[in-house]
Order: sequence, then C-alpha cells, then structure tokens
Amino acid sequence: MKERLERVREQFEQAEVDALLVTSGPNRRYLSGFTGSAGTLLITRQRALLLSDGRYAGQGPREAPGFEFKLLSDAAPLARQLPDLLQELHIERLGFEANHISVAQYSKLQHELEQAHASCAWVPTEGLVETVRQVKERDELATLRHAIAITDDALAAVRPMLRPAMREREVAWELEKAMRKRGADGLSFEVIVAGGDNGSRPHARAGTDELGVGRPIVIDFGALVAGYHADMTRTLILGEADEQFRNVYTTVREAQQAAALGARVGMTGAEVDALAREPIAAAGFGSAFSHGLGHGVGLEIHEGPAVRQLSQHVLQAGMVYSVEPGIYLPGWGGVRIEDLVLLTDAGPEVLTQSSKDPVVKI
Ligand code: ZN
Ligand code: ZN
Repeated sequence: MKERLERVREQFEQAEVDALLVTSGPNRRYLSGFTGSAGTLLITRQRALLLSDGRYAGQGPREAPGFEFKLLSDAAPLARQLPDLLQELHIERLGFEANHISVAQYSKLQHELEQAHASCAWVPTEGLVETVRQVKERDELATLRHAIAITDDALAAVRPMLRPAMREREVAWELEKAMRKRGADGLSFEVIVAGGDNGSRPHARAGTDELGVGRPIVIDFGALVAGYHADMTRTLILGEADEQFRNVYTTVREAQQAAALGARVGMTGAEVDALAREPIAAAGFGSAFSHGLGHGVGLEIHEGPAVRQLSQHVLQAGMVYSVEPGIYLPGWGGVRIEDLVLLTDAGPEVLTQSSKDPVVKI
C-alpha cells in the first residue's frame, strides 16, 4: 500500500498539485485498503488521511492502518472540515479527481473554501491513481487468477446442464449459483446469456427465450472475488453447428487467438486491437465487429488499459486486460470469445482456461 501511495505522489509535480483528494471508491480501496462504501482520502506528500463517518470508526482504522482516520459527521461534513485541514497541512494546490466528483459535491466544496477565505487552488486531475492500478502487483494477480478459476469452473459445471428448453435466465442463475458455491463474493456484472438474435446486441441481458437448437448462444459473465473482477465470454451452440456458425466462429476464434497471443509490451491498445480486426475484416465481417477489442480489469470491470481502435495506451508488463472480438449479425445472432490476458515481458499469458469447443451435444 505504501508503494502505491508513493507512485501516486510521484505524479504530484507533473500534475502541479501538492495533495490529492480521492473521491473514487475503487481508488480509495486500492490506496488505503478500506472497503467501506463512503469515505474520502486526502493524500499529501507526507501524510495520508481517511475521512469517513461514524459507521466506519472501527472498520476504517482497522482496514487502513496506514491512514490517519478523521471522523466526519452531519455537523462536520467534508466540506466543513476541508478548509481547516488544508490550512493545517499547508496545502496550496489541491488536486481533485475530475472524473469522480459530482457537480453538486464540487460546488459545495468550492463554496465552503470560499466562505473560509481559503487561498488553496482547486486543480482538476485525471487518472493519477488509475494509471498506477493498471499494472497489477503479485497479490492482485493471485486474486484475479482465483476469480478467473471460479469463472472457468462455473462454466464447466453448468455446460452439461444445458438443454434446448432451458431459458436464458435459468442458465444465468445456474452460473451465478455455481460461482457463489465456489467462493465468489458476487458477480462482476449481471450474467449475459443471449441466444440467437438476442446475441446480435453486444450488451443483451439474459431473457426468457429458450436456448433452442442450432442457435449461437453468447454467455458473458465473471466472478467477483475480494473486489477483483473476472470476465469471460464463450459462445455455445446446442446440437449441430451449420456452415454459417462454423464460418463465423472460426473467424472470431482465429482473431481472438491472434490478438491474445500477438500482444507485446510497448504496443499500443490500438495496435493490439488491429491484430483481431484485420482477420475479421479479411473474412468480410469488418463492420460486424462493432466494439473495441478489450479493456483492463481489476477493482473495476472496465478500467485501463483501453484496448481498442485509436487507443494510445501503451501496454506494460503486469497489465491484465480482456481480448474479446465478436461478430454480430442482426437476425441471426452473435459470436464473441473473451479471455483475460496477463502481459509479461516474456509475452502474453492467457489466464482464462475454459474450452473453446462451442458445440454442446444434446
Ligand atoms: Zn465480458
Ligand atoms: Zn469484457
């Protein structure tokens, strides 16, 4: 945790701040260890404070021993206490997380600062903590591997249960149960099970349609473990795969493999995206791959690096991201295959282990 703070502080000079107010929940947890749902961090070059209310008077100091705990209350909320704190800590330029503060919060804090005649400048910052979060440490990787293993095991357990008369929602529920039984704290996101035409919308949910026979079924889900998100997609088909399915599936699978295995440290997100986009375009499905190739995962289901067209994020060793090309044909359905990949100096390691054999015998 100390090292994480140092890596954020290293950016203070370039960001032209001498302290940072952290209002993002995942960033708060990452830097302090505090898992409560409310609280703000104030990080200066020397000190680190966790400001939260009475509900967390016990949990806060216990989970975030490296932080000084400051009690907030209705009578003394953050906006009231901040001017004094800034003065006490000699903060002249306070960075705030421009992507993680509401207009209402911002106005309130600014109003109190003005009332107190504080001379501190408010400086918008972006990504100071998120940048550090992209490169995973050893214990974070262990947690991610655990979440991914639960996700793999859940699909292996549910796959033999699939029947043509089963509804999408029943499959989603079976997957949820299987993950919870294996120790997941919850879901990374609501399980997607989308058969036939439903699957042609990349963000379809699980509905009431039956799985049926000979239809592509997109299943996208992941286990949440200790705050970390797994994410996997498999496309299955019950019964016989026809030529159309085989053609689309083979194209997506080859594109997925090319991008998953072809990434190297130093490539941009856009370059890795292109590894998958080119074979799909060459097969004549270019316009049917309608989203970016992938995204980082960690304390959030979508975080950096962005692995998509135009992304200038440079991939580094220790980053974990999804590789999830898809082809979506309205009226027919969709095929998407998604693995999580850890990039290392020696090349990529595909963390997801589930079979890519799409055909479920019935
Ligand atoms: Zn997914
Ligand atoms: Zn994903």
